[in-house]
Amino acid sequence: MIDWAGLRWSARDAAQHAYAPYSGLRVGAAGITSRGEVLSSCNVENASFGLTLCAECGLVSALALSGGGKLSAVSVADSDGKALLPCGRCRQLLHEHGSAELLVDAGSEVPPHRLAELLPLAFGPEDLPAKGVEP
Ligand SMILES: [Zn+2]
Repeated sequence: MIDWAGLRWSARDAAQHAYAPYSGLRVGAAGITSRGEVLSSCNVENASFGLTLCAECGLVSALALSGGGKLSAVSVADSDGKALLPCGRCRQLLHEHGSAELLVDAGSEVPPHRLAELLPLAFGPEDLPAKGVEP
């Protein structure tokens, strides 16, 4: 059973650390790994805008740093704790570091989404020719 309120709280807490001087939208992301570990991250904007890192980017980096594996549940929230859905780029990122079955928080009023609902027919590593590289 996933503690969605707790995960959303972790995302909200991470959002407090965001660097968002341009949009003012402070975002945090928190995820549960396949090992049951909770990781979190925040967005980091850049004056060039195109180099802005969404909170989910940092979350995937934290996953690699923590030993890898897959994310099994993710909550993304603003600094007030309102659940936000990942942008298109981050849905693709989460697909590779979660799975189509990754659960994505949709807020306290509705059940979480499966990533496959948010990114149907996703392109992934299995669509590339084998390169002999361990994921
Ligand atoms: Zn994003």
